[in-house]
Amino acid sequence: MLGGLVGLIVAAEVARTDMEAQQKVDSYYVTVSKAEPQFVVTYDVSSRGTVRGDMDEFRRIVAETLNDERGWVRAGVKFEEVKSGGRMHVILAEPKEVKAASPTICSDKLSCSVGSLVLLNDDRWMGGSDSYNEIGVSLERYRLMVLNHEVGHFLGHGHIQSCETEQGMAPVMLQQSTGLHGCEPNSWPLPSELWVKGL
Ligand SMILES: [Zn+2]
Repeated sequence: MLGGLVGLIVAAEVARTDMEAQQKVDSYYVTVSKAEPQFVVTYDVSSRGTVRGDMDEFRRIVAETLNDERGWVRAGVKFEEVKSGGRMHVILAEPKEVKAASPTICSDKLSCSVGSLVLLNDDRWMGGSDSYNEIGVSLERYRLMVLNHEVGHFLGHGHIQSCETEQGMAPVMLQQSTGLHGCEPNSWPLPSELWVKGL
């Protein structure tokens, strides 16, 4: 009984800390004005292999994240979902299918972007990463981060190796899934990341 109570208190504390962190991030970004859309990216949503993730939920989260005012829209990108034939293919994939998409670039442990394919690893989608889970960051925020990170590759971004000093927030193009490198977890592109190339 006591154990259950402690568990509840710990869970509430984790939720509170997570909410405060999210509010800090949100308040930081509302000061940044949204750019006028200059690039329209059509995308379609599908799955590969056997996945545990709910596809209706996946599709909804992708749509909400891509056009969230804290996201890549600030770099002038507008995302439009199409049934098929999009410029970008957002795919919830069984881990072995992620690797199979490009065995030299992708692994079955992580999500991966290659060409027009944005592959979200079903294991990570359902379970998050150790780097986020260890400090009690919600799966919801992990999903936002990994989606924005992989779409960032599609938009022409490579990896960033360290955090900026300002509030110590991790660039979204830092590989937060494998480690936070002393940065605070962050799901959205930083002002310095608001560019695209090759569209
Ligand atoms: Zn990456």
